[in-house]
Amino acid sequence: MTHILSSWKGKVIVATGGVAVASGLVIGGMVATSGNAAPPKTATPVSADNASAAAMPPFRLPFPCGQKWRGDTTASSAHTKYEIDFNQGRDLSNVDEGRTVVAAAAGTVIRSTRHVNQSGYGNHVVVQHSGGYQSWYAHLKYRSVKVGQKVKSGTKIGAVGRTTRPSNSGMTAHLHYEVRKNGQYPPVAAYFSGKRFPYPQPRPGVTLTACKGGSTPPPASPVAKICGKGFKQIDSRALGKAGRVYLGYNKANKNNCVITVKGKGKKVKMSAFLQPKGGKAKTDTGNFTQYAGPVKVAAPGKCVKWGGYIGSTKWYSGWSHCG
Ligand SMILES: [Zn+2]
Repeated sequence: MTHILSSWKGKVIVATGGVAVASGLVIGGMVATSGNAAPPKTATPVSADNASAAAMPPFRLPFPCGQKWRGDTTASSAHTKYEIDFNQGRDLSNVDEGRTVVAAAAGTVIRSTRHVNQSGYGNHVVVQHSGGYQSWYAHLKYRSVKVGQKVKSGTKIGAVGRTTRPSNSGMTAHLHYEVRKNGQYPPVAAYFSGKRFPYPQPRPGVTLTACKGGSTPPPASPVAKICGKGFKQIDSRALGKAGRVYLGYNKANKNNCVITVKGKGKKVKMSAFLQPKGGKAKTDTGNFTQYAGPVKVAAPGKCVKWGGYIGSTKWYSGWSHCG
């Protein structure tokens, strides 16, 4: 079965015989074939059941933590067994187009390319992980990584799209995801946060929450980096999806520190705020690319109010962390 990532999600019906398809995407010793491609004879199918989860890198759902996505494995010309299609919004629509796709585990980007005529993968990225595993992300709207780039688990690699070969213009936006062992096709079973994907999953699929199950460590706190040496994070609050406000404390000089942090991008009006009880409030407000603050106040034994905003999303505490 060739992996024609065709239009089964859309309206275009693809003939399974006689369609000229180059499956030149397969790496790891497999060569491009053309015509009505059968799996190259050099391919040794890897039984997913031989793929021990323990030997795998700690894969997570390839979306930002906390997001819920539905994965399905509906059989199609594009799917033999273990490939998964992800949708967050309605299936068979393009509401997911542009949504962030992240690396499912740390690794090195070994492919970031657009195959328009050659295959149905469209814009796709392949990340090489430890243990010979690779994660494949297809139909991306755009790619954010380059070949050779090292990525962490959770690094943005692109956005959900519907890029594929021109004849399949009816395909709807989704993320096609697969895991390969030693570059071989067909893929092996995918795991997320230590759990095997519950195959098979006809549409609409099973809903999974990114990072739930917890084998992915939380991202390192930016408090020490931005507030300075000796500061440790003691609290934080999300500002919607825009970013997060952090409260840090330095035992050595009894200073509190507040920073408001967002991901890189355009300048946005944002603010960090800190006030000790009985003392003057300090704020840092402006148009920043990454963060507001740090604002620091010595408040030994005193309650503080802290908070901040990014754009229109704000959060402020009451008196807290007294002492
Ligand atoms: Zn697919």
